[in-house]
Amino acid sequence: MNSNELFEKSLKLVPGGVHSPVRSFKGLHTTPRFINRGKGAYIWDEDGQNYIDFCMSFGPLIHGHQDPEIKEAIIKALDNGWTFGACEKYSLELAEFIIGKISFIEQIRFMSSGTEAVMTAVRLARGITGRAKIIKFNGCYHGHLDAMLIKAGSGLAGTAEASSKGVTAHQADDTLICELGDLEEVKKIFDDHKDQIAAIFIEPLPANNGLLIQEEAFLKGLRELCDKHCALLVFDEVISGFRIGFGGMAEKTGIIPDLVTYGKIIGGGMPVGAVAGPRKFMEFLAPVGPVYQAGTLSGNPVAMAAGLVNLKKLTPAAYEKLNSNTTKVVAVMKDWMDKNGFEDYQTIQYGSLFYPISTHDKLSNITHLPKNMNERFFALFKVMLEKGIYLAPNAYEVGFGSIAHDDKVIEDLKNRLWN
Ligand SMILES: *Cc1c(COP(=O)(O)O)cnc(C)c1O
Repeated sequence: MNSNELFEKSLKLVPGGVHSPVRSFKGLHTTPRFINRGKGAYIWDEDGQNYIDFCMSFGPLIHGHQDPEIKEAIIKALDNGWTFGACEKYSLELAEFIIGKISFIEQIRFMSSGTEAVMTAVRLARGITGRAKIIKFNGCYHGHLDAMLIKAGSGLAGTAEASSKGVTAHQADDTLICELGDLEEVKKIFDDHKDQIAAIFIEPLPANNGLLIQEEAFLKGLRELCDKHCALLVFDEVISGFRIGFGGMAEKTGIIPDLVTYGKIIGGGMPVGAVAGPRKFMEFLAPVGPVYQAGTLSGNPVAMAAGLVNLKKLTPAAYEKLNSNTTKVVAVMKDWMDKNGFEDYQTIQYGSLFYPISTHDKLSNITHLPKNMNERFFALFKVMLEKGIYLAPNAYEVGFGSIAHDDKVIEDLKNRLWN
């Protein structure tokens, strides 16, 4: 069966034909490609086409598809069984490795997704502070837990409503929404809700609604406000962790969060999420502390083995390669776009993340995104797909460079673009 036939079948079996909405190619006037294989920087679909992959499973595959050392670790782990629901030493190796390298982390708890990590961090922040409300920023994505499926309301500053049906008004009441970059607004929210705010949650490098790079002064201001009001600062580094250097944005900026959440890269492409921080906060979690959290498949030994090798391979030289690969990719794409009807685009880059967007304006919050971005992205996505280049299938998603996108792949990218 080809991709079209598989999608037709899938529409009958699965809501919208997909297990995660962004995969549906909604608004892109074509059906999703069904991928049957990936290797290095490439993926192959059921129609026999291959593509240079810039989605990379939305981030986890920092070394490319089927990295041989990660594959070997997975196979080796399988030989011992793939879940015990009991104590094992494999998760300790990953925990020890991460804790040894990131100075503000004393303890870590593994789970199976980024959403679970943020969900745990929300409960933990509430449990630690005894307060109910959290601050979230417009344009930051933190997974699909109810507390985060909240958008700015149409009423007063800080009011909010659910962005999904099924999320109660009660949930929306406890999530306060601010605009990225607007420290004054955050100050006002703290003053309006004295002793009620448990934590600020932020993607320190917001990369789920375009790439909305923040001033360090803003992040620093949030740190100070949290200290002043005895609230926690939580960095959601599910996308930026282990990508913008090993210690993510916390390490890059020197701004230390009280809790950090990880996902994506931490499992090397296997399902892993984590919450980490100092012992004094982490020990609020059960069974020591009063905040409950659990998981049948948490600390899964195969996923732990994959994550460990994935992270061990992230040497300083690897980061250099990762970033320089991405810089070259962006240069090649930009050059082609400028001369082929996409001169309205700029390509924003931060390390190995890049974001082509149809405006020359500076972007630092979602109000800066251009109105015609969906139509313009459709045009770009379509040409790229026809040329064998797979961008993440949505105007709001960033592109992911990898260590596998080496000079040979970049040469191929150039050929595909210009032919
Ligand atoms: C992807 C992402 C999540 C959600 O992780 P899942 O593994 O998809 O549940 C949460 N926060 C950020 C910043 C993310 O990029």
